[in-house]
Amino acid sequence: MNIPKSGLPRVVIIGGGFGRVALAKKLQNKEVRVVLIDRHNYHTFQLLLYQVSTGGLEPDSIAYPLRKI
Ligand SMILES: Cc1cc2nc3c(=O)[nH]c(=O)nc-3n(C[C@H](O)[C@H](O)[C@H](O)COP(=O)(O)OP(=O)(O)OC[C@H]3O[C@@H](n4cnc5c(N)ncnc54)[C@H](O)[C@@H]3O)c2cc1C
Repeated sequence: MNIPKSGLPRVVIIGGGFGRVALAKKLQNKEVRVVLIDRHNYHTFQLLLYQVSTGGLEPDSIAYPLRKI
């Protein structure tokens, strides 16, 4: 994997759902290097999935790039 080396302890978070994105944000200003791994490169706001399935929203309205978060 193309993960830059740093002298900081590495925290690997598997999954970019609600829980783990919240954890990554909490670690934002800590002395650790966070590596977030997900099978997708975006976070899905699942609560509004029904809006997409019924045509009320476009898919990209409820999916947000994990790198931007
Ligand atoms: C339609 C719908 C409506 C909902 N409405 C509500 C609501 O109104 N209120 C409420 O409190 N909750 C609601 N929920 C539940 C809420 O969305 C979940 O409880 C919450 O998303 C769980 O968060 P999580 O971080 O545990 O997992 P998720 O948010 O499910 O995230 C899991 C992440 O792990 C990744 N992942 C999974 N397997 C792998 C793998 N093998 N390798 C790499 N990555 C992997 C996934 O891609 C995903 O990004 C709803 C759920 C759905 C589906």
